[in-house]
Amino acid sequence: MLRIYKREFECPQCHHKFTINERIAINVTLDPGLKNKVLKGKIFRHTCPNCQQESIVLNNTMYHDMQKHFMVYFMIASKEREYRIPIGADNFGNFAGDDYILRLEVDYNGFRERVRMLDMGFNDLVLEIMRALVLKELQQQLPEAEDLFFIGAPEGDIRFQVIVDGKPVRHVDIPVDMYTKVEKIFEKFPEATEKVNALRRIDRQWLEDTGILERIEKIIDAE
Ligand SMILES: [Zn+2]
Repeated sequence: MLRIYKREFECPQCHHKFTINERIAINVTLDPGLKNKVLKGKIFRHTCPNCQQESIVLNNTMYHDMQKHFMVYFMIASKEREYRIPIGADNFGNFAGDDYILRLEVDYNGFRERVRMLDMGFNDLVLEIMRALVLKELQQQLPEAEDLFFIGAPEGDIRFQVIVDGKPVRHVDIPVDMYTKVEKIFEKFPEATEKVNALRRIDRQWLEDTGILERIEKIIDAE
């Protein structure tokens, strides 16, 4: 399988032309060094050999962790909700029988965030529910908060960056107990064990389409 494309690129600063390597597959099991490059946002950075200017050049790519059994397809600005991998002669692409987590992301921050969630071993469906619950509560004190962005789990907390006007302004730490609580409720839902042989987007739209948030809130309120 072809993993790297070579592409001619013109430096926006000095207009020097050079060749950049675009990775269309990032297999962190075969090439472990790539994981940090993705998490630290270096995977799409290219340095001009003439003036040292760094440019970010995004390209569609498939992140694959064979040990942790997940794939995240970064398909830039796509309107698709899901993407089915064509099943090859070697049966690659058929994940129906495997315990694989398959995700689709259409923007760069979302791609890095999803990789971080799954790499840390979190159930990203639960985190998605939590994001909505925490945001709703936060907006009562901070109405301008428009989104939350998962950045990690220091000392047992779940840490989200608070986004205002498209920019991170501060962070909130949520005790992991809340995650465990939501996970316990969610476990009983059919969506928790549903198997789909396609890379799917898990986001606010998914929460709305499935009505999961409402169902979870009802249970929490009843407790
Ligand atoms: Zn340059």
